[in-house]
Amino acid sequence: MDSSRAARTAVIVGAGIAGLTAATALARGGWQVEIVEISPAEATSGWGLCLTGPSLRALAGLRLADSCLTEGHGMTTVTHVDVTGEPAGRIQLPRLMGARRPAMAGIARPVLHRILHAEAARCGVVVHRGLTVVAVEQTENGRAGSGPSAPVRVRLTDGTVRQAGLVVAADGIGSSTRSLLGLDASVDYHGQMVWRALVPRPPWATGIHQFAGKAGTAGLVPLSGSLAYVFLTENGAEQSFLPNARLAPRLQQLLEPFPGRVEELRHLVAASRSVVRRPVRTTFLEGSWHRGNGVVIGDAAHAPAPQMAGGAALAIEDGLLLAEELGRHESVGEGLEAFTRRRLQRCRTLVETSVTIIGLEQAQRHHDAYALIDACHRQMAEPA
Ligand SMILES: Cc1cc2nc3c(=O)[nH]c(=O)nc-3n(C[C@H](O)[C@H](O)[C@H](O)COP(=O)(O)OP(=O)(O)OC[C@H]3O[C@@H](n4cnc5c(N)ncnc54)[C@H](O)[C@@H]3O)c2cc1C
Repeated sequence: MDSSRAARTAVIVGAGIAGLTAATALARGGWQVEIVEISPAEATSGWGLCLTGPSLRALAGLRLADSCLTEGHGMTTVTHVDVTGEPAGRIQLPRLMGARRPAMAGIARPVLHRILHAEAARCGVVVHRGLTVVAVEQTENGRAGSGPSAPVRVRLTDGTVRQAGLVVAADGIGSSTRSLLGLDASVDYHGQMVWRALVPRPPWATGIHQFAGKAGTAGLVPLSGSLAYVFLTENGAEQSFLPNARLAPRLQQLLEPFPGRVEELRHLVAASRSVVRRPVRTTFLEGSWHRGNGVVIGDAAHAPAPQMAGGAALAIEDGLLLAEELGRHESVGEGLEAFTRRRLQRCRTLVETSVTIIGLEQAQRHHDAYALIDACHRQMAEPA
């Protein structure tokens, strides 16, 4: 292997949305890519997510938007309902992919992951499951002592070592690779738990519905012709664990105070086979996102609260733009510097806005929260 080719070898830690999209984009740019994923199984938890306009636009950059639109559920409106059950306005989201395509799509997470995995595999990316990284070694001049072709040495839990030109930490909000690169970020819990339950899609649910409540916010996102998910944000909650058997009954109880159509959703939740409850946590990596030939992307660098439904968009944009900047610059260091410069402000805005929205929700200022969400969607519609 000649040295320039060996230098274009990347180890990505984490086969989530950021890791898989970065792998595909880098492989298409001529990089030889391996992913190390800690989870032994390919399946992800069964809830869905909303791909907003920026997500679809970035997926289109990877030529994957149409598969997601075919397998998900395209939509363009968010209908807000006030605490009395009366309609409180309808937001038309910007159609970033032209007038004939929807503004966003709901999609089941396992379906999105299947699409991303299949494309990465088609591009020659190898995924090693049940493994993680225990050490990343780089010398100050960016060489790990094995010659100019391999500036980073990555040691894995199975005792093997990879020599690579690039290591990408895409291992989510609690990233341990971030620390191995010598970069640290605090993760903040905001006193909210979010719930998701997969349910059959009611025929009236053609767009997102969001219901304001006295103690939280609930809603519905269609995922396909037959499937949707109910969401609920629980305010003032301890970051605690509930056994699976208690999830559906507790979610039903939390939905009880909501009037109108939520009554119907409550009955659907009773029969749901997939209910999850997650803490609302955010992080933002201040300063540089790279050290030597290592870089941090996705939630590991910037995790917004789910209220803006924007974390996946940032993760996909990261994957696409990382490959773009590395392709544009002579050295990996220059490419990573340009990548961070390009991403920092946009990602900071989304994370900070999501935290402000949490505060507004907790203060029952739903209308202010809706206005801010709308304004932030418009800001994120600007090119990445
Ligand atoms: C409840 C909830 C709802 C959300 N809804 C939306 C939504 O509707 N729209 C939206 O855009 N965003 C949403 N988000 C945010 C979105 O899920 C994240 O921003 C996105 O998944 C980030 O992708 P990622 O690849 O950076 O991280 P992750 O998805 O967390 O993936 C990280 C990967 O790394 C692996 N990993 C972890 N540690 C290690 C390790 N040490 N070694 C190797 N592998 C490791 C994990 O197993 C995982 O596969 C939501 C988040 C939550 C919690």
